[in-house]
Amino acid sequence: MTSKGLNTLREARQLSVDLSELLRDPGTSKRFEFTDDLEGLSLDMGRVDPALAFELVLESLVEGILVRGKVAGTYVLGCIRCLRSFERPFELELSEVLSYPDQPGAEEGYQITGDLADLEPVVRDAVLLAMPVNPLHAPDCKGLCPVCGSDRNETDCGHEAARVDLRWEPLEELKQRLSTPGSAPGAERTN
Ligand SMILES: [Zn+2]
Ligand SMILES: [Zn+2]
Repeated sequence: MTSKGLNTLREARQLSVDLSELLRDPGTSKRFEFTDDLEGLSLDMGRVDPALAFELVLESLVEGILVRGKVAGTYVLGCIRCLRSFERPFELELSEVLSYPDQPGAEEGYQITGDLADLEPVVRDAVLLAMPVNPLHAPDCKGLCPVCGSDRNETDCGHEAARVDLRWEPLEELKQRLSTPGSAPGAERTN
C-alpha cells in the first residue's frame, strides 16, 4: 500500500461528527443520520463489514455529550462447525457519554477533543462486544465429517453412522463391555 493509501485509510477511520452547535450548551440536541465506513474491525470469529449506518441523537449535557441511537451493519463470520463464511446483519443500540476533558474521570472514558466527536472508539467497542462468540451459519449446521472432512450440510458421505452422539458415549461403552466374551449372556451366572 502506498503512503497516500495509508493516509486515506486513517482519515476514513475518523468516524467524526460536528459538535460545534452542541458544545457547552446543555439541553440542546441534534439528530444525525449517516453512513460511513469503518475498516479493520475484526476478532477471531469474524469481522465487521466496513459499511455502517447510523441513526443518532447527540444531546448536550453539563459533563459532555450523550450519544444515543442505532448502528446497523453486517458481521462476516466463520461458522464454528462447517467453517464456511456467512453474513449476519446486526442493529445495535448505542448510549454513551463523551466527556469534556476537564471532567473528573474523563480520561477513563470516551472524550471530546475539539469541535468533533470521534465516534470510532464508541462504535468499535459496541460492535465488537456484540459479535457472536460461537457463530453458526444455521442453528442446525451439521458440521464437517470427522472421518473424511466433507461438509455434511452439502453431501452425505456415508460416515453418518460412525458418529456417536457424545451424550450416548457412556452407554455405548457399557454396551461394548457387556458384549465382550467374559460377560456375554452365556457365561453369566444366574444365582
Ligand atoms: Zn455451518
Ligand atoms: Zn465422511
